Amino acid sequence: MDEEMKSKIKEIEEIISKYNSNADLAMLEKAFDFAEKAHKGQLRKSGEPFFIHPLAVAKMLAEMEMDMPSIIAGILHDVVEDTEVTSKQIAEEFSSEIAYLVDGVTKLKHIPVSSKEELQAENLRKMFISMASDIRVIVIKLVDRLHNMRTLQYVNTDSQITKARETLEIYTPLAHRLGMSKIKWELEDLCFKYLEPDTYQDLKKQINAKREDREKYIQGVLETIREKTSEAGLKVFLDGRPKHLYSVYKKMVKQNKTLEQIYDLIAIRVIVDTVQECYTILGIIHELYKPMPGRFKDYISMPKPNMYQSLHTTLIGPDGMPFEAQIRTWEMHKIAESGIAAHWKYKEGGTTTSEFDEKLDWVRHLLDIQKDSGDASQFVDTFKMDLFTEEVFVFTPKGDVKNLPAGSNPIDFAYSIHSAIGNRMIGAKVNGEIKPLNYRLKNGDIVDVITTKETHGPSRDWLSIVKSSEAKSKIRQWFKKERREENIEHGKSFIERELKKQGFTHEQLFNKEYIGPILKKHNFNSIDDLLNVVGFGELTAQKVVSRLRDEYLKDNPKDVLSTESLENIVSKEKKQTTDSGIVVKGIDNCLVRFSKCCNPVPGDNIVGYITRGRGVSIHRADCPNIQSMNEFKDREIDVRWAQNFSTTYNAELTIKALDRSNLMLEIAGVIAEQKLNMRAISARTTKDNYGIIDLTVEISERTQLDKLIKKLNQVDSIVEVMRKSS
Ligand code: MN
Repeated sequence: MDEEMKSKIKEIEEIISKYNSNADLAMLEKAFDFAEKAHKGQLRKSGEPFFIHPLAVAKMLAEMEMDMPSIIAGILHDVVEDTEVTSKQIAEEFSSEIAYLVDGVTKLKHIPVSSKEELQAENLRKMFISMASDIRVIVIKLVDRLHNMRTLQYVNTDSQITKARETLEIYTPLAHRLGMSKIKWELEDLCFKYLEPDTYQDLKKQINAKREDREKYIQGVLETIREKTSEAGLKVFLDGRPKHLYSVYKKMVKQNKTLEQIYDLIAIRVIVDTVQECYTILGIIHELYKPMPGRFKDYISMPKPNMYQSLHTTLIGPDGMPFEAQIRTWEMHKIAESGIAAHWKYKEGGTTTSEFDEKLDWVRHLLDIQKDSGDASQFVDTFKMDLFTEEVFVFTPKGDVKNLPAGSNPIDFAYSIHSAIGNRMIGAKVNGEIKPLNYRLKNGDIVDVITTKETHGPSRDWLSIVKSSEAKSKIRQWFKKERREENIEHGKSFIERELKKQGFTHEQLFNKEYIGPILKKHNFNSIDDLLNVVGFGELTAQKVVSRLRDEYLKDNPKDVLSTESLENIVSKEKKQTTDSGIVVKGIDNCLVRFSKCCNPVPGDNIVGYITRGRGVSIHRADCPNIQSMNEFKDREIDVRWAQNFSTTYNAELTIKALDRSNLMLEIAGVIAEQKLNMRAISARTTKDNYGIIDLTVEISERTQLDKLIKKLNQVDSIVEVMRKSS
């Protein structure tokens, strides 16, 4: 190792010693030696020895005050991939924890990033998080990418563009999600430089042209603030912040503005010791300069989900030129810049500040982890799972990502490509090996479907092993078309069985007069068409018979309710009624169920509907299902909420929002704030890029729900909050 490298290592050791006095520097030096030997002879594209890369990565990790295993894994991160060294060796020479981290980084390298579509990018980001077994792996990977981006001038233009695009699609959103703003901004500016070189240079020139004026202006503002704060006896750190080119560019494009129209192009930052001082400073600044209405944001009392905290305000400065001020404490500053990475500092120092613990608790609560884990690393483990545990991400042989419901198998995969592939499937290779059709797919699997030339169709068993509704419906479709005769036979017997069950004879209901409307409604040409559909399961016999019965009852109104008197709906199990919190007029001990379609909660106006044999079902008065039910009037019964009840009810909400990261966490935060229990949450994205979030919360009365809806409506980027109905 030459002298220059040795002195670089010394530098890194000094950085570490400043924040971690117990660091095992001997182990660190061993790692540097190990990596240097392993990479001996390898060169970077710049012509320099490869070793300068792990050296640079280690330095950045040290500057971020990461823990020792991360830094050492950073030093070793390329050895398993690029040299003879095995991960077993790393475990023996260093520790299994370090080997685990290195493995994680190596694994991420094998994710092929080939697609440019937004959907693919989101899938890849999710996959990234699911595959990285430890958040530290992503931190190392981000730093690795940052160094590669910083030295991108040495590779050819094609690779520059590919790398930059990949970085912008996958890495910067991850950095953002984890609150690692410093890395995010630098990566973005580097990507911008390679992807839009002309725009980049042009903007840079424009900004530089007025640099002197701007700096003078900022200095003037800072001077004024400094005077006032020292008069007030405050110790503050002041800084004029240069805005990052890419964020300026994004603003110009998004808001269609010229450079001059961007208010916070000029920004100052005030850093103080305590939260109290933040608000004191805010007062002082608002006295000095007129604040711009609607531009004040208090992220201290309402932290962003990635834990960012600061006060933001925009002010009209001298000569009417606006500028932005950000006010925060030193601790907030660290978290603002390194996000999740700021966490290790506290962890390794041994003395965890209680404030930070509280924040962890907050996130922990959101993610609903078991309460007894006092260990902060639990937070990290869970954080990575985010909300992707419901999905599995796999590859086509060409490298496209497919996301399927967790638990999917190669059949789901085949049908997700095309029904013709599924219908001709006879087997599958996963990562090059033949696997059974019910093999449970894992993240990162490469799946190759084996097909035959002629379509032989799916097997009926497949219906019970596939996981995705897409595969299910495609398999059903096949049976519908290909097995018509068989289906018709099945359909007949299903309907007969159902007729018997509902207490009618074939002759009573199954005649042309009553079937006609059903055929018309579904556009069937013949009764066989109807039976076919019933036979393969697209339409249930129960639905058909109910329709027939409705038609029949129109002709024979006296038969309404004749088969079941009110007595039939009286529950034999008394217990159910007392717990329901519902009083049904005229009947005690009535079997009551809450309709799934509108989930009424106490405080809602409700109506009761006498079902056939299943008691009284309770709907909200405004439930669209009730209103569209023909026979409702005949079967309505008065119901009301009982006075005293202690039961909780599930209320379902559907939220429409502009899709953005961390929205789910924020929503969960609002629910936690309202001291409500969340029972379920799931999210999907619509084609036009809205996020739809379905949410079930436990409440005991309507007012809680109204309050929650109000609070949710205040969340940034939420467009609409609806009670679920249907
Ligand atoms: Mn690397």
